Amino acid sequence: MRLDQELTCAQVVEIVTAYLEDALGDADRERVEEHLVFCDGCSTYLGQMRETIALTRRLEPEHIPSRLQDELLAAFRGWSPA
Ligand SMILES: [Zn+2]
Repeated sequence: MRLDQELTCAQVVEIVTAYLEDALGDADRERVEEHLVFCDGCSTYLGQMRETIALTRRLEPEHIPSRLQDELLAAFRGWSPA
């Protein structure tokens, strides 16, 4: 057992985006995968995240109402790189 290295659910949720983007190092990815083996809650959460990303990728610009598109573009223009 490596209790000191096990992730809590909160930690998994924090890094799940990096995990899905394959942005984690090998050790961190393994820790997430180990956690998912025994944690139904995080497995479900990850499944929902994957589904959301898949749906988002399928969303083409023409599916977005033009008024919403204008609002989104305006919001993105306000963003500055961190
Ligand atoms: Zn969990």
